[in-house]
Amino acid sequence: MDDERDASGPGGLPADGHVHSEWSWDATLGSMEETCRRAVEIGLPAVAFTEHLDLTPFRAGFLVGTRPDLVHDGVLTAPPFDVEGFRAAVERCRGLFPGLRVLAGVEVGQPHLHRAALRAILSSGGFDRVIGSLHCLPDGDVAAEPWELYPRRRADDVVREYLAEIPRVVDGCDEFEVLGHVDYPLRSWPTELGPFEPRRFEDEFRQALRAVAAGDRALELNTRLPLDPLLLQWFREEGGRRVTFGSDAHEPAAVGAGLADAAATAWAHGLRPGRRPEAPWQVGAHQHAAG
Ligand SMILES: [Zn+2]
Ligand SMILES: [Zn+2]
Repeated sequence: MDDERDASGPGGLPADGHVHSEWSWDATLGSMEETCRRAVEIGLPAVAFTEHLDLTPFRAGFLVGTRPDLVHDGVLTAPPFDVEGFRAAVERCRGLFPGLRVLAGVEVGQPHLHRAALRAILSSGGFDRVIGSLHCLPDGDVAAEPWELYPRRRADDVVREYLAEIPRVVDGCDEFEVLGHVDYPLRSWPTELGPFEPRRFEDEFRQALRAVAAGDRALELNTRLPLDPLLLQWFREEGGRRVTFGSDAHEPAAVGAGLADAAATAWAHGLRPGRRPEAPWQVGAHQHAAG
């Protein structure tokens, strides 16, 4: 049975399960050590460094200004992920911040298209968290992010195409346990079209969320754009039972941002923390503390 603390709310912050550091190619302000320091300061129990594993070349768009060295003929190819360097940095931070649980992870883009490469990296061991994320859609002979597609296609079509791809992402790769930011195209939804209305895409969202639930993956509440509680409700109705939280911070100051609100949303939908702070929240899980 739920104890008094269960009934009152989540209490402290949950783990930040999606953070980038200098080991991600696009985190030009990243610092694992400073991120850990900040995490301790604000009372986070655990942080998962889920660095980018991006193997799909994509249209660079504005990123040509961020990493011109990675762009050729308008297409950005991310550099290889330095697994050994990353691992050593994680070990160092575990030593520096013994009170913080520091998890090693990856965020793999388009995991269904790069399964063999992902397996090869994971087989080296030591990864605590694998997030699978859809960042790009096919665009001619390369790929492109939603923000690059919106000016060239109907915005509704971009969202529909994105959501239609999610079941293929889940069914095409067993190696990730968390689906990252299912609402990714909403981050760059064209402002001139007015507020995004999820109900216009209810069928498409439900189909995507059903695939996540059926694939026994956790849904991430990514706080870069606070997840519309309606999406969490649909996830639950489609059989979803596990969620994680992630700030998607690319710089130390952003770690933990928005997690308190996201935890309150998850709590309101019947999700509860597990025994370890970094564990996904689950339906019917119980807090360790006795009532
Ligand atoms: Zn991402
Ligand atoms: Zn990310």
